[in-house]
Amino acid sequence: MPTMTAPSLAFDGAQTAVLSHGDGALLVTGAAGTGKTSALRERFARLIDEGAEPERVALVLGSRSARDAARALLLDRLPASLPGLQVVTFHGLAHRVLKLREGEPPEVLGAAEQFAKVRSTDHANTPEGQMTMLRELQLALDAKPSRGGELRTSTAVERILVDAQRARGVRLAGGEEIGAGIVFSAADPRHTLLDLVGAAELPPEFAWATQSIKLRGSVAKVHVETDGQHGLPGGTLVVAPTIRYLERAYDAAKYGQISAAPYLEVTSSAPRGGHAIVSIHFQFAPYALRERSWADAGAIVQQRAIDTLAQYAPGFRSSIRRVHTITPHDMQSTYGLSEGDLNHGQLILDQIFFMRPLPAWSNHRTPVDGLYLCGSGVHGGGGISGASGRNAAASIANG
Ligand SMILES: Cc1cc2nc3c(=O)[nH]c(=O)nc-3n(C[C@H](O)[C@H](O)[C@H](O)COP(=O)(O)OP(=O)(O)OC[C@H]3O[C@@H](n4cnc5c(N)ncnc54)[C@H](O)[C@@H]3O)c2cc1C
Repeated sequence: MPTMTAPSLAFDGAQTAVLSHGDGALLVTGAAGTGKTSALRERFARLIDEGAEPERVALVLGSRSARDAARALLLDRLPASLPGLQVVTFHGLAHRVLKLREGEPPEVLGAAEQFAKVRSTDHANTPEGQMTMLRELQLALDAKPSRGGELRTSTAVERILVDAQRARGVRLAGGEEIGAGIVFSAADPRHTLLDLVGAAELPPEFAWATQSIKLRGSVAKVHVETDGQHGLPGGTLVVAPTIRYLERAYDAAKYGQISAAPYLEVTSSAPRGGHAIVSIHFQFAPYALRERSWADAGAIVQQRAIDTLAQYAPGFRSSIRRVHTITPHDMQSTYGLSEGDLNHGQLILDQIFFMRPLPAWSNHRTPVDGLYLCGSGVHGGGGISGASGRNAAASIANG
C-alpha cells in the first residue's frame, strides 16, 4: 500500500461530511472557491488510504484543466506512480471503458459486400435472447397465480397518487385506484415524475432537473412483409459502408432532417410458406423535425429505407407486399416513449452511471418515498438487459 503524507488542509463541517460519507451517492455542490474540489480530492485519497484499489476508484473531472489541477493537488497525498490511478475527464473514462473491450473490434466486411454483419456472442444480449427472456417471464407470471400477482396489460396509469411526499398507489385511466405502499415505474423518468406524479409534488430543483433530462429519439422502424424472395441473407445486417457515411447520416439528425442516405440495421426472417419479414431500423429520423411534421414524413422514411436497401438487394423491391412504418412520434403516442427516445433518456456522458437519471439519484429512489424507477432511463438501462429492474428490486430488498 502507498505511503501517504498527512493532509495539509483543514476542512470545515460541510467538507468533513463529504470526507466521512458512507455508501451510496452523494451530491456535492458549491460555488467556485468554496473548497469542493479539495474535499473531493481528499476523499479520493482517503479511500485509497483505507485500502480501496486505485483502479476501482475514479475521480472524474469535467475538463482537462480541472483534471490536471486535481492531479497536481493529489501529488502531495498520493504517489504519482500509483498503478491504476484514475483521475480522468469524462472522455478519458469513456476511452478507458472502450479499451477494456480492446481485442474485440467490430467485424467490418469489405466494400464489395457493403454490409457489416452484427455478431453476437452472448445470446442473452441479442434481441432474440431478450425476447425469449420476456416470454419466459410472462410464462412464469401466468404459472404462479398463487403468489397473488396480477398482470394487466393495455392499462394506462393516469396518476401516481402521492400524499405528503409518500406514494400511496396509482389511478388508472378509467378512474380505478389501486393502493400500494411501493410503486415501481418503468415508464421514462420524465414522464413518471412530471406527468404521472406532477411537478407540484416534487422539490422545485428536482422538478427543474427532471425537465432537463435530455431525450432525443432519432430512430424509425420500417417493417416490410415480403413474398420471401427479398434476396437478403438471414440474420441482422447493417448498411454502413464507411465512417463518413455514418457521420453524414447523423449530421442530418443534428439539423432536424431525415438522413438522405440512412444507416440501416436490417433483420430478415427466413422465408416460410412464401412469406418473410424484413425489419428495418432506420437511422436517423429525429423526433424534432425542422422543416416538416411527422404527420406526413413517415412516407419519406419508408421510401428512403426501401431505396437504400434495394441498392444492395436488387430483388428486394419487387418482393414487397406490405409496409408498416413507425415514426418517433408513433413511438411516443403508441409506446409511451417520450420524444421517441428508445432508451428513456440519451446515453450520453452526463446521463450515465451515477448521473442516470440525475446526479445523486442513480439509486432508483425519488423524492417521493415509496416510488422507485426501474426502467431504461435509470442506471442499468437502456437496453433489454433487465439490470435496472433487478437493481431497483435490490435497492428495496437491501433497505
Ligand atoms: C425500435 C427499437 C429497437 C430497439 N432495439 C434494441 C436492441 O436491439 N437491443 C436492446 O437492448 N434494446 C433495444 N431497444 C431498447 C429497448 O427496447 C429498451 O431499452 C427497453 O425496452 C426498455 O425497457 P423498459 O421496460 O425500461 O421500458 P419499455 O420497454 O419502454 O417499457 C415501458 C412501458 O411503460 C409503458 N408506459 C409508459 N407510460 C405508461 C403509463 N402512463 N401507464 C402505463 N404504462 C405506461 C409503456 O407503454 C411501455 O410498455 C430498442 C427500442 C426500440 C423502440
